Amino acid sequence: MEQFDVVVIGAGISGLYALHKLRQAGLKTRVVDAASDVGGTWYWNRYPGARFDSESYSYQYSFSRELIDEWNWSEHFAGQPEIERYLQHVTDKFDLRRDIEFNARVESVIFDERSRLWNVTTSNGLTLRATYVIAATGFLSAHQYPDIPGIGDFAGVSTHTARWPREGIDLRGKRVGVIGTGATAVQVIQTIAPQVGHLSVFQRSPNWCTALRNRPIDAETQQALKRDAEAIFARCNETYAGFIHKLDERNGSTIDKADRLQHYQTLHDRGGFALWLANYMDVFTNREIAQEVSDFLAAKIRERVRDPETAEKLIPRDHLFGTKRPPGETNYYEAFNHPHVELIDLRETPISRILPAGIETGDRLHELDVIIYATGFRAVTGELMRMHIVGEGGLTLAEKWHDGPKTNLGVQFAGFPNFFSVLGPHNPAAFCNITRCAENNVEWIVDCLRYLREHGHTSMEACPAAEEVWTQRCYDSAKGLLFSEVTDSWFFGYHNPGGDQGRYLIFTEGVPAYRRIFAETAASGYPGFVFR
Ligand code: NAP
Repeated sequence: MEQFDVVVIGAGISGLYALHKLRQAGLKTRVVDAASDVGGTWYWNRYPGARFDSESYSYQYSFSRELIDEWNWSEHFAGQPEIERYLQHVTDKFDLRRDIEFNARVESVIFDERSRLWNVTTSNGLTLRATYVIAATGFLSAHQYPDIPGIGDFAGVSTHTARWPREGIDLRGKRVGVIGTGATAVQVIQTIAPQVGHLSVFQRSPNWCTALRNRPIDAETQQALKRDAEAIFARCNETYAGFIHKLDERNGSTIDKADRLQHYQTLHDRGGFALWLANYMDVFTNREIAQEVSDFLAAKIRERVRDPETAEKLIPRDHLFGTKRPPGETNYYEAFNHPHVELIDLRETPISRILPAGIETGDRLHELDVIIYATGFRAVTGELMRMHIVGEGGLTLAEKWHDGPKTNLGVQFAGFPNFFSVLGPHNPAAFCNITRCAENNVEWIVDCLRYLREHGHTSMEACPAAEEVWTQRCYDSAKGLLFSEVTDSWFFGYHNPGGDQGRYLIFTEGVPAYRRIFAETAASGYPGFVFR
């Protein structure tokens, strides 16, 4: 059995960077991944229309000037094929592949109390021993199918968006059903609508979308983005969610209504998450302001969708703008103007079952050749809970988190020494521009390992009391914010089975606050953690 200093689970954005940093720290590292190549999210989610909702140049890695200079993003919001190529380029450039084991889904991660080492077993029969384990498993990795009777009976082609086949699916002229209208579904629907023979969109809850305004990056902008790269990263580190969009420090309630409406239009025209993350500060706390932005968007939907009944169904009534992560759209609403695109409101007629010929709602059968499940993930805790993780005293992580996750700083869990999680529960990643948060979290974890070595400690783990405090702080971080009232989102583990449901899974004081807490914790010798 081969022994390593560190086993990293996952070869996505976080895992690749972790490998690079761990090597620099002189730690013998092995990365394992279930996929046949690098990319994580960007490996699995190759559905039509998959692309960034962060500006490409703000999402890229910041650690290598050479990498920034040599990579040209073709669009402001690059598509999945380009993102995957980028991650392969990074892998090759930094010679990462030789330390990655592919097609190796981790099945168990078990702490051996005698040796105080972790044993990691994989689906392809490997057992790796390591002093430290870093779960770089992402927070939207464990895809979920809905619990609908007959789901296995469908005679046509079906897939979850997060398992889109590499060879693709020929949708031209086909009768296609999409279940879901979250960020993934919006990207799929707007992309495939012009190609398919008939499209049935099965919507349970509409979402407030922001206009993406994707466009090519011209040569002059390309140069400017490279020149300003450090400033862009620095700005991201100072914004609430790690994006280039900075919240307006004014409260909308102090501004004239006409000026507010003009401001919404300016942000809407800017695109991306500007309307969400560069809006007035009180859009997250003031119901009237959030309602006004919602009304602004509802008017746009009514303008863009020709059939008034369909338009009304596409307007959310159960939550205000900004209280769920908004999908980025390009011609999403116009898709419903095609005569062959139909919106099925599942609140009126829920899906009763899936039959070999299609999807039944009420007493109507929607005959289909293809069903696309854009039904989301067991969010935030999902991949951690799928693995059989066993800590000290034989306690499994599933048992420990029976009533929802507990963590210190979203990185370590009491009873699981030397086990670290990069983007697990209770950190700001779910709101975040992932690469900005992943780099920050990986650097902090690698610094912990350096500290352990330099101080002759053999292990580090969260202290139970500190874990209680941090977990409560995460719950409190959402208090007073409007989205704390909207519990049917994945921020609250809405689609998760068991104890996550209704528990707030994210730290919401913002990325700068989190960075500050990380820095202060390290500078003062890691209070809240136990060393041996
Ligand atoms: P999601 O937001 O959880 O959406 C899942 C969708 O499936 C919802 O519309 C949900 O309806 C529906 N659904 C689930 N179970 C269902 C059932 N039994 N019957 C009918 N409908 C059902 O998942 P997602 O769209 O994959 O997005 C998750 C997150 O991934 C996003 O918020 C975003 O952070 C990230 N993402 C990012 C990008 C990007 O641009 N980079 C793209 C895609 C996703 P309800 O709302 O009624 O539950």
